[in-house]
Amino acid sequence: MPSELVIVYHRQPYEEVEVDGKIEYHENKSPNGIVPTLKSFFGQYEKGAWVAWKQADDPNNPDFERVIQIEDSYGKYSVSRLPLTAAQVSSFYHVTSKEAFWPILHSFKEKYNYDPVDWPTFREVNWSFAEAAAAEAAEGAVVWVHDYNLWLVPGYLRQLRPDLRISFFHHTPFPSADMFNVLPWRKEITQSLLACDVVGFHIPRYANNFVSVARSLFDIGEVKREKVNPDFFSEGTALNEATTPVRITFDGHEIAIASSAVGVDVSYIDQLARSEETRRAAASVREEMGGSQMILSVGRTDYTKGGIEQLQSYERLLEANPQLRGKLRLMHVSVSANRAMTAYEEIQNEIEATAGRINGRFGTFEWQPLALISRAIPFTELIGYYQAADVAWITPLADGMNLVAKEFVASRIDDQGVLVLSEFAGAAVEMDAAVPTNPFSHRSMDTAILQALEMGPEERASRMKQLRSHVQKYDIRAWADDQRRYFDMKWQS
Ligand code: UDP
Repeated sequence: MPSELVIVYHRQPYEEVEVDGKIEYHENKSPNGIVPTLKSFFGQYEKGAWVAWKQADDPNNPDFERVIQIEDSYGKYSVSRLPLTAAQVSSFYHVTSKEAFWPILHSFKEKYNYDPVDWPTFREVNWSFAEAAAAEAAEGAVVWVHDYNLWLVPGYLRQLRPDLRISFFHHTPFPSADMFNVLPWRKEITQSLLACDVVGFHIPRYANNFVSVARSLFDIGEVKREKVNPDFFSEGTALNEATTPVRITFDGHEIAIASSAVGVDVSYIDQLARSEETRRAAASVREEMGGSQMILSVGRTDYTKGGIEQLQSYERLLEANPQLRGKLRLMHVSVSANRAMTAYEEIQNEIEATAGRINGRFGTFEWQPLALISRAIPFTELIGYYQAADVAWITPLADGMNLVAKEFVASRIDDQGVLVLSEFAGAAVEMDAAVPTNPFSHRSMDTAILQALEMGPEERASRMKQLRSHVQKYDIRAWADDQRRYFDMKWQS
């Protein structure tokens, strides 16, 4: 039976676990990451399908199960798996997606490093995703494609199945034309995205950047800003930026360029935050801190996350404020997702060296100014750290959204804790009660952290209350509702 909703996401929607020599598909209960939210869409359709890749030594092996049926707490759905060799994965994912697209999306031209021989593989892999989605989709079905590693899928899919409603969501930032047009395949990618009915982003600035890119490359007609209906989208997603959706036209086809900021699962985090276990964990972290103030920083080890710039600011803080020595501690969680890639290994080494220098310079027998944690902390445990912290110091140089900032706020049932948030995280557009900081400016970084450490309890509570009410209102369900509305959006005129 064909599917009314096909989700095209490069990863499989479960964990494969080998039990007694047999593969079992275990539901991944972790609330972080978008997969559980995407799966929750299946409940609203009679039949749903997911398309992902799976590594295969021999893609032509007749025993490889291309389509499997899953039944979990989200319902029944099929998963089409594309067998990719290790060489294809490396070329499509580690080279084209991570060495060419990732730096450009995050505005790091100097990190762009690419060998054009990998482009045919990118096309080939995207074509396979499009073919699998086309094979699954019912007449007029919604196909929802995710993220930059599948940029060419909409164009191929439109060729294969003109009847489909194609929606694409970017989970990253989207840069301006000056940056995006560095990509030699800028026209091919943009043309593919313009084959969609809806192209989605977290915040209006990214959406508007996409419009500027499309305009720089093609004739997209007049950009129309009228709303589809008076209260179509969540107003809080666009506090101080031009609103979306906007409508553009390409090749006689109308495309909605839309934004909606992804939120977190507030009710789940709230439940965890109120549990006895979390309270005990938070109390034990506090006890370890002694009387010191605790600054918490959590992120992946990636040049976009600004870990090194943050540690340098911490070093300046201790240097300029001798009175703070012995009275605070930075817990810097930097998790390496891609240890095998040179760029990430270099950053990890630099973070370790900088952390070592700070501890060597300022540490004493009784006091260690910095704890560096390089292993991933399980989500449930992380909530305890969020609760124990006096300050969450989140300073990416570029970040599509930043869920850590929202999770920290959702965990603070005590209305305490200060959020210092980079102006270059997508979340900053919404979270204007945070202490803003510009991670490219020493002065801004240094004053923001000091302001947070010195903030009185009343101001802390008033800022946190504002942040909490926003994060609660625009949670993961609000984002999912926005997406659903975009699927069958009709323009008024
Ligand atoms: N995270 C975690 N354990 C860690 C560090 C991070 O579970 O030790 C989770 C965190 O809770 C968040 C996600 O990883 O849900 C990171 O998402 P974010 O949007 O902040 O950054 P991304 O890594 O997607 O750029």
